[in-house]
Amino acid sequence: MGVEGGSPHVGTAKITRTGGAMFDAGAATMEEARAALSTYFGYDAFRPGQERLVSAILAGRDALGVMPTGAGKSVCYQIPALTLPGLTLVVSPLVSLMGDQVRALKAAGARPSYLNSTLTVPQQNTVLKRAREGWYQIMYVAPERLADERFLAFARELAGPDGIGIPLVAVDEAHCVSQWGQDFRPSYLEIARFIDSLPVRPVVAAFTATATERVRTDIVQMLGLRRPETVVTGFDRQNLYFGVEEMGDKAKALWIRDFALSHADASGIIYCSTRRAVDELAFALGRELAPAGIRVGRYHAGMAADERTENQAAFIDDLVPVIVATNAFGMGIDKPNVRYVIHHNVPESIEAYYQEAGRAGRDGDPAECHLLWNGNDFRLRRYLIDRGDDESELDDDARERARQNRYRLLSAMEGYCETTGCLRAYILRYFGDEGALGVETASAPAHGATGAAACAEGLSGGCGNCSNCTNPAEAEDVTAIAREAVLLVRATGGRFGRALVADALHGANTERIRQYRLDEMPGFGTLASEPVAHIKDVIGQLIGRGYLSQSQGQFPTVALGPRAVEVLEEAPGKPFAFTMKRRAGGRRAAVRARQAVDLLRDEASRDARPRVGDDGALFEHLREVRRELAIERAWAPYMIASDKALRGMCRRRPTTRDELLEVPGIGEKKADDFGDAFLAEISRFEDENRS
Ligand code: ADP
Ligand code: ZN
Repeated sequence: MGVEGGSPHVGTAKITRTGGAMFDAGAATMEEARAALSTYFGYDAFRPGQERLVSAILAGRDALGVMPTGAGKSVCYQIPALTLPGLTLVVSPLVSLMGDQVRALKAAGARPSYLNSTLTVPQQNTVLKRAREGWYQIMYVAPERLADERFLAFARELAGPDGIGIPLVAVDEAHCVSQWGQDFRPSYLEIARFIDSLPVRPVVAAFTATATERVRTDIVQMLGLRRPETVVTGFDRQNLYFGVEEMGDKAKALWIRDFALSHADASGIIYCSTRRAVDELAFALGRELAPAGIRVGRYHAGMAADERTENQAAFIDDLVPVIVATNAFGMGIDKPNVRYVIHHNVPESIEAYYQEAGRAGRDGDPAECHLLWNGNDFRLRRYLIDRGDDESELDDDARERARQNRYRLLSAMEGYCETTGCLRAYILRYFGDEGALGVETASAPAHGATGAAACAEGLSGGCGNCSNCTNPAEAEDVTAIAREAVLLVRATGGRFGRALVADALHGANTERIRQYRLDEMPGFGTLASEPVAHIKDVIGQLIGRGYLSQSQGQFPTVALGPRAVEVLEEAPGKPFAFTMKRRAGGRRAAVRARQAVDLLRDEASRDARPRVGDDGALFEHLREVRRELAIERAWAPYMIASDKALRGMCRRRPTTRDELLEVPGIGEKKADDFGDAFLAEISRFEDENRS
């Protein structure tokens, strides 16, 4: 089978090819997969979604994994790659990160490779030659490569009768194949053609962190997945706190400064929507945080490539804890210990937001995500949509569709900013993962009008870990306004824009009102005591949450939305209720960022095992050891061991290699390579503190 040497090697003998078309996974295979998980990565068990996907792949079935960042997608294809005979291909758009992924796999004791334009032609030849000889278990390639004649010939040979076999093609960031998402890459359309051209069809597994129902359907179709085992897991990231704060532009900078100061030891990302905002904020923050010894980096596509790479590396290596960046930063960065992600501006969609915010807390420890916004953010976004930069090669129809799509995505973002309900519930509903955490279905009407704001969006009791759940007092009951607005929109047949509807409800005496005879409508003036601006806000919210809908174009009109029935036909016992955030008005941008939990103390109190000396002090020692090991090898510290693994050592105080292997995140290879260094440090520390 051509899988050779290379330690540690997991047996593959029980897997045989049948009929040249499929891999027959014996009953032992999941056991082998679990063994590989422990040997290479040091984990005891698959997470539930991983388990289903891996066993489907090993059984020869296609798979689709939709999981949020940090849920552990890579394991789903890496473990099959490491246990199946032959070479697994991983299609990934993130050329700049392939090197990192390969290094991390090597550090775990696997035999990975990548093939992309950063390699010279002789280097590429060497990689291909070794791959033919069965040297590698896994190869990362960019999608463009799949159309390359030389690569095609190579792949056909490999998958042919005399080749070592291609058991699996894994497609990372699979949403790039869909024009409904925002990361559409035409080169992803090559993937299906590539797979069809192979003499033996491999198992195809697709993975993405962000996919709505529509994008999911596209992925299956465009990649030609055959009855894939589909797992949509845990969009809920329980360890993340979500906060939304409306404030002026100046207040944002101050807020971020204070936040960074009160989280001085933590690593964080601050996203801005423009390069200029990045430059300005990075400069101001850098100056203000310097006295506290906090370094601030910056990253955007307008900087020189060298500087970008350098800044990114400094951030990953924990040398510069705070980075201010545009969305060009972070695709695929899997730094596990990012403790906060702050959005200085509103991103273009919930998908983008959740992906970027999701870079916090990949290690599973508590982390915070804050979105700061004001009306300027939405104005800028609309301007960018109308300008339609990256759509020059589309025809008029396609461009218009793309534009409408972007407006739709943005209006969901607006809803997120404005909702008084649980922010987590809002996001989960958006991704269709409402089963999580007892979130009710979208069509269920809201709870009683007076309940906590958290209930209004349908999460029973709230998640308790978002700004709307922990700070519900700011909700304003606007049920009456909302009801009148929906009724008037229905009565007028959805022919008018937001301003005119608001004017009519307020009872304004304007020429346009008279022109359209709105003053003769039954709803005219029913909200005379409400300011027009306030009514308009409520209508905006109704649009954002799907009770009303708004057409696109220069003179958008407001019509009934899919949830209008909840207002028009209230279910018995579940009256319609609508709340929204009280307008900033005199309210100082009230910001009480929940302090990050003192993790170490927390975890220690759960464990009664007697320990010598302070865990926090030992942690610092182990970090130092890790840093030295990392410098020796020119690796990122987390590739040596995660923060979580170090904390595990502080708690368990292993004295032998076997005890060290009990620490989550420490596999055989890591124990071999670094075990002695850590064990020695622990023992030295305990000796010193044992007086
Ligand atoms: P994704 O690709 O979905 O963003 P990763 O594959 O990078 O996520 O995994 C996120 C984190 O979870 C990593 O630190 C990874 O090592 C860890 N992880 C993955 N699978 C498991 C598991 N079964 N048990 C414990 N930790 C895991
Ligand atoms: Zn909540």
